[in-house]
Amino acid sequence: MEKILVIGAVASGTKAAAKIKRENPDAQVVVVTKDKHISYAGCGLPYFIGGVIEEEKELVVKTPEDFKEITDIDVYIEHEALEIDTESKSVKVKDLKTEEEKVYTYDKLVIATGASPFVPPIEGKDLQGVYPVRTVSNALEVRKLVDEGKVKKAVVVGGGFIGLEVAENLHERNIEVSLVELIDHILPPFDEEIALYAQNYMKEEGVNIYTGEKVLSIKGQDGKVQKVITDKREIEADLVIMSVGVRANTQLAQQIGVELGVTRAIKVNEYMETNLQDVYAVGDCAENVNLVTEQPAWYPMGSTANKMGRIAGINISKSEKDHLKGVLGTTIVKLFNLNAAKTGLSERDAKKAGFEIETVLVPANDKAHYYPGYRQIITKLIADKNTHKVLGAQVIGEGVVDKPIDIMATAITFGAKVEDLEKLDLAYAPPFSMAMSSTILAANVMRNKLTGRVHGISPIELNERLNELQIVDTRDGGSYIIGTIPGAIHIPSEELITRIDELDKNKETVLVCKVGKNAFLSYIKLRKLGFDVKILEGGTCAYPYEKE
Ligand SMILES: Cc1cc2nc3c(=O)[nH]c(=O)nc-3n(C[C@H](O)[C@H](O)[C@H](O)COP(=O)(O)OP(=O)(O)OC[C@H]3O[C@@H](n4cnc5c(N)ncnc54)[C@H](O)[C@@H]3O)c2cc1C
Repeated sequence: MEKILVIGAVASGTKAAAKIKRENPDAQVVVVTKDKHISYAGCGLPYFIGGVIEEEKELVVKTPEDFKEITDIDVYIEHEALEIDTESKSVKVKDLKTEEEKVYTYDKLVIATGASPFVPPIEGKDLQGVYPVRTVSNALEVRKLVDEGKVKKAVVVGGGFIGLEVAENLHERNIEVSLVELIDHILPPFDEEIALYAQNYMKEEGVNIYTGEKVLSIKGQDGKVQKVITDKREIEADLVIMSVGVRANTQLAQQIGVELGVTRAIKVNEYMETNLQDVYAVGDCAENVNLVTEQPAWYPMGSTANKMGRIAGINISKSEKDHLKGVLGTTIVKLFNLNAAKTGLSERDAKKAGFEIETVLVPANDKAHYYPGYRQIITKLIADKNTHKVLGAQVIGEGVVDKPIDIMATAITFGAKVEDLEKLDLAYAPPFSMAMSSTILAANVMRNKLTGRVHGISPIELNERLNELQIVDTRDGGSYIIGTIPGAIHIPSEELITRIDELDKNKETVLVCKVGKNAFLSYIKLRKLGFDVKILEGGTCAYPYEKE
């Protein structure tokens, strides 16, 4: 009987174990984890803190007993794997409750040790009231403090998904929340204009956000946290959430000579095999390949961890041979009523990878504009200028963003070009979409740009070049007052020809309106007159910088 030992029992470890046993019921599969909980919904922890998920039991998908009953697999919780011996094919494991050490032998080993929060080595990081949010135990402790009314002010360090989700949930519990982020905007994987849109939204909801700011230390009294010191201010806090990123847990694997990749996660091939025979690695501890660049990347995501676990399970059980070529780092987050999603390469990453790119920013609605409850969404599309292949997309707004991002992820996976995207036969009825869906609209605008029919300027570039450009707001009087680009002259589209003398033909001109329609009408007129003219992409509604 083949013996398989799995180290780690959250998403990828339990997935691999269950698949092996399903495919090969004769195998003896044992799982050890140092945690108290198995198979828990890490992704649900922020919502548990906020009380949206009320009970602890809702977070823990399965207990070891449930797991045993369903799968006939023994899971040993609070059992830490200390050492692996590849000669004797055995692992020394310590029972953390009894301190007893045991040895488990294996024919095949699956390392699913996940990732751990990175906590910078700053003064005060060990004070009471300072927590990462990674495990059920972390969330239970934070929730207890909040439920007991002991938290009036909280500081979240780090503006990634986890930090933002926790910030929202703490704010919903009537706590004053301040979030400090080192780089210039929250949501680091997104491009600046999309991230700033989300940042403005969070601020309007009442979260204090300080970007471009470094946390230097945490101060406390009698062992309890009192305030966070940044390079720009002091912020009072009864609770500090440290969410500045995670690191792959690779120590155990490194002991036996398992090779790491350039991302410092365990290097695996498409079958989830490490460089050592009979040793597999899956989930957050292992490296991925980016499907667009075909280069190593690291996406510590539950979605990817499950896929990796399943592939390893199939290959270990030898039911068939399967592989995972790569992933796109597709990701989605809800921030109050705002949704943001991303797949493939950002503009920044695409440039770094050496692509010559074109981008568009296109506002649309998630349903027909006359159907009750429709909401705006803004799509950023990134394409290869030479091949027209879609490289990446980001979608943000109060409307439905998961559908368009999943369409984009599918398109990129199958190597679609912008022209393919335009012709997709997507479902339409007013409650679900516009007749020309946001995805198709974005592809149309991209095609116009790629073929040189329309010249656009991104909000980022406009913001950088405000002083050198002639900016014309083309909206009618009513909508103009909502807020425009600093320095813009107001000439409604229908008055453009009669007031043409007010414009300097020798100056590069940018036309703006709310979403782009009026600006496009003026664009055609000014092009005919020989102006060097561009349209502000996304209009004023997607312009995340200061408006007048
Ligand atoms: C707050 C939060 C929100 C998230 N939201 C999302 C989301 O919305 N979408 C998404 O896709 N992903 C999300 N994630 C990420 C997702 O939870 C992880 O990608 C997923 O849990 C990875 O699973 P894993 O099994 O590879 O690793 P882990 O979940 O890290 O589990 C590894 C397990 O191995 C154990 N272990 C480590 N070393 C040893 C050892 N030596 N001996 C024994 N046991 C050991 C660890 O204690 C741990 O229990 C979120 C994560 C968090 C924390």
